[in-house]
Amino acid sequence: MELRSRIPSGPIEGKWDNHRFEMKLVNPANKRKFTVIVVGTGLAGGSAAATLSELGYNVLCFSFHDSPRRAHSIAAQGGINAAKNYQNDGDSIYRLFYDTVKGGDFRAREANVYRLAQISVNIIDQCVAQGVPFAREYAGLLANRSFGGAQVSRTFYARGQTGQQLLLGAYQALEKEVARGGVKMFTHTEMLDVVLVDGKARGIVTRDLRTGAIEAYAADAVVLATGGYGNAFYLSTNAKNSNATAIWRAHKRGAAFANPCFTQIHPTCIPVAGDYQSKLTLMSESLRNDGRVWVPKKAGDKRAPGDIPDAERDYYLERKYPSYGNLSPRDIASRAAKEVCDEGRGVGETGRGVYLDFADAIQRVGEDRIRERYGNLFEMYERITDENPYKVPMRIYPAVHYTMGGLWVDYNLMTTLPGLHVLGEANFSDHGANRLGASALMQGLADGYFIIPYTIGDYLASAKLEKVSADQPEFQAAKRGVADNTKQLLGIDGKRTVDSFHRELGLVLWEDCGMARNAAGLKRALGRIPEIREEFWKNVNVPGSDAELNQALEKAGRVADFLEFAELMCTDALHREESCGGHFREEYQTPDGEAQRDDSRFAYAAAWEFRGVGNSPVLCKEPLTFEYVALTQRSYK
Ligand SMILES: Cc1cc2nc3c(=O)[nH]c(=O)nc-3n(C[C@H](O)[C@H](O)[C@H](O)COP(=O)(O)OP(=O)(O)OC[C@H]3O[C@@H](n4cnc5c(N)ncnc54)[C@H](O)[C@@H]3O)c2cc1C
Repeated sequence: MELRSRIPSGPIEGKWDNHRFEMKLVNPANKRKFTVIVVGTGLAGGSAAATLSELGYNVLCFSFHDSPRRAHSIAAQGGINAAKNYQNDGDSIYRLFYDTVKGGDFRAREANVYRLAQISVNIIDQCVAQGVPFAREYAGLLANRSFGGAQVSRTFYARGQTGQQLLLGAYQALEKEVARGGVKMFTHTEMLDVVLVDGKARGIVTRDLRTGAIEAYAADAVVLATGGYGNAFYLSTNAKNSNATAIWRAHKRGAAFANPCFTQIHPTCIPVAGDYQSKLTLMSESLRNDGRVWVPKKAGDKRAPGDIPDAERDYYLERKYPSYGNLSPRDIASRAAKEVCDEGRGVGETGRGVYLDFADAIQRVGEDRIRERYGNLFEMYERITDENPYKVPMRIYPAVHYTMGGLWVDYNLMTTLPGLHVLGEANFSDHGANRLGASALMQGLADGYFIIPYTIGDYLASAKLEKVSADQPEFQAAKRGVADNTKQLLGIDGKRTVDSFHRELGLVLWEDCGMARNAAGLKRALGRIPEIREEFWKNVNVPGSDAELNQALEKAGRVADFLEFAELMCTDALHREESCGGHFREEYQTPDGEAQRDDSRFAYAAAWEFRGVGNSPVLCKEPLTFEYVALTQRSYK
């Protein structure tokens, strides 16, 4: 498989501008002759569908939710980065670019990251124009706070509900186009296959989740904006419905999957409380602007936090990383939390927790100010734990949160399948091996509002696109494949629930491909996953029928895909014999326990080609070159 990244030539500052000029345009009167399918209505898909329709394309937009507003993006709490430099604290496009390349541990494409930093400033203007109520300073200027891995304040926010407010903006734009007739919206509709005609992505097959009807839709190009696959781990901070099905099935049709092992473990989540928990809750990174992370100095210290004097506390992030302190990047803060818990200094009943303490901040600025900044997050914490974080420190622990891997895309956001484009968390993104906080919303909206509207025009204007119809054999064959798969799942009639398989898989991944990985564990997982998969296909029980709403059936399809995908994730983690960002291989660490990259062997994006379930995938490498940010050992000390 050939990986053509299509990075434009020339100095980095001018690449995107020149590329936009050089790309072909579709004449306004011709745009209505093209139909584009957009799957997903989160920030990436919603913004893309609205914008493509505003441009004049016919858009068919799909979501398995009952409303576009239910997309997982609504859960984003803390904020969105942009290099506006409103604080006059030294920020610039170049600094955001630099921080992101370094934050991703040098495993992202420089050209993409630079473009992202450039576009970040337009996103804020776009959203303000839509009426997104970003927090403001007393004088009226938009307010900013800091996120991990940055020494400037560049994060725009709407209390702890930034994703919700941004999604309402994109949703309004989308609904305007639905009302105008430019977008035809299909809710409760799950995409289950991509259809190729003459090697190009020309449509999708869907299942109506209420009636079970399986349909095929034809188009000139397909855009997937279907979110991340963190739920492969069963427990994660993602919305329960987030899954890998859309991108996994596209992968099985030939789209390369890049860096599947790059998973982000977020340091500040409410700790796991029991075996039957089905969801984890994030406590936004923004809380680390004011909260101080600590554990007792002494192992096994069971005193209440208020009884432990300052001198007997270890503010380990401030101690180990004095320049960035509590705002050290996520991968580093997560590993540091694991380390102190492994030493027996963790807090809470399970010993897998650390404190996030606001006492000093409350003393400094007052409780009202803290409530103003994080009120809804504190309320959420109290409702879940029954502890008042204004009075006692929060207890937090790392949890699976985001996936940097995804379908491989070129500079135009097109996969290795011509016509198939991928946006947002579903692509292998601009974040390398570790995403900095508040950068996912930035990337999803950059992709949807500002990149795909240009690049898809270039594709449509350049590709030779014969007329296709959903009655063609390729579509009918794909429909039959989906119907057979559904029948097979319902026909097994075994003894175990879908969730029990999912939980088992999640535990394997967390233990052996989680925050710390090693060759022995990964090999163990690679032995175990096919066994679980085999048992799934013999012994899963999917009650109900395929002609009505059947959530067990929906889940079964998604878990079946996770069971295939998980093998690729572990294969990728095993082959990458280095540590970088969120991929921490215990065998490869510096003497002080930091990630040890091996640039001579692994400075590439690993893009995998599918060769059948259970067969070894083929590795293709996209070399990464760093002309602007020198490859160095990352340091936040
Ligand atoms: C708790 C939490 C807080 C976060 N906070 C922040 C933050 O403060 N700042 C930040 O930058 N990032 C944050 N993130 C990350 C960020 O929210 C996500 O990366 C981002 O919202 C993903 O957007 P998306 O549009 O790519 O996908 P999603 O919002 O996940 O949308 C996916 C869409 O695809 C649809 N879909 C998926 N599969 C199918 C299918 N097969 N058929 C039909 N439809 C399908 C879904 O219905 C949905 O509409 C947070 C993440 C979490 C979990």
